[in-house]
Amino acid sequence: MHVVHCTKAALHNLISNTMTTPMLLVHGGAGDISDARVPGKTKGMKLALKAGLPLLMPSPECGGIEAGSALDAVEAAVRAMEEDENFNAGYGACLNSDGNVEVEASIMEGSRLQAGCVTLLHDIKYPISVARCVMERTNHTFLGGESAQKFALANGAEQLPAGSLVTQSARDALKQFKQQQSEGKDTTYAPTELDKTIKERPGEPGTVGAVAIDAKGNIAVATSTGGITGKVAGRIGDTPLLGCGTYADNKWGGVSTTGHGETIMRFNLAQKIIANIRYCNMSAQEATEVACKEMTERLGGTGGAITIGPTGDIGVAWTSKRMGWGYVRNNEYIYGIDHGKVLKEPF
Ligand code: ASP
Repeated sequence: MHVVHCTKAALHNLISNTMTTPMLLVHGGAGDISDARVPGKTKGMKLALKAGLPLLMPSPECGGIEAGSALDAVEAAVRAMEEDENFNAGYGACLNSDGNVEVEASIMEGSRLQAGCVTLLHDIKYPISVARCVMERTNHTFLGGESAQKFALANGAEQLPAGSLVTQSARDALKQFKQQQSEGKDTTYAPTELDKTIKERPGEPGTVGAVAIDAKGNIAVATSTGGITGKVAGRIGDTPLLGCGTYADNKWGGVSTTGHGETIMRFNLAQKIIANIRYCNMSAQEATEVACKEMTERLGGTGGAITIGPTGDIGVAWTSKRMGWGYVRNNEYIYGIDHGKVLKEPF
């Protein structure tokens, strides 16, 4: 007889036949992504899925019964993108107007609605792990500025030498931003090819996010960013704000957003998507599309989101010119970056 050891929850799932098919969905930011950036982002999202998926899948040591953890999976996926210079998070984050990196992140789990958020960190490679520490090791939900920095260092984060997260392309993006400003151009947004009435901000887009559901039906979400190029020092965006950049609730779904933060936070994009699922009975896809469209129609700013519904259905939509997204099904990497184009390749 083959004996397996597993937790009570996994056993309950087995007996009551309530296993959910695990899913990990990632995004690599929305905006005016240049063609030169596409291969790096596509590869980086695949690497993020490779980092996160082993933590999400039921473990073979337990006869395939013991479920992985959505929370571990989203943290690992986001960490992989934070260390990748192709994204605007961690290493490669965009620069504020003083030429410095100030990063922010949030993480949330949907069983008890626990969350951790951080902002205005500097010279720390994995802001998402600091956010998780806030969630798990404090009685608070959101830490910012020098206290957050001290907390990060006291909880195992490495203080890198000043400027270690700054890349040449982030410097170039700031230079271009300042040039446009000095020419009196509107740097709030820049026109896209999609629709000349919809405008996008210049700079390096590439906030990162991950949403996962594990076999127990637990949903978790993580989002991390450097914000927007040329931001005033001390500016805080949507990414660390619950209901804007991140939200997770096992009952209704999980959402990670990206795009113009000032727009997203005024609209509460993540929460609007959850409301569409909850009150309008929409699928994750419809809820995401409707909310992103309404946001841009009402406020003008663009953005996008990835969503997993409570039964594991997925939603991907954006009003920006481009948004990188990806997931794995049947050992195939399914991804995209342009409107109306879904690509597939072996995982
Ligand atoms: N939402 C981020 C911010 O405004 C930027 C982005 O998603 O690209 O801080």
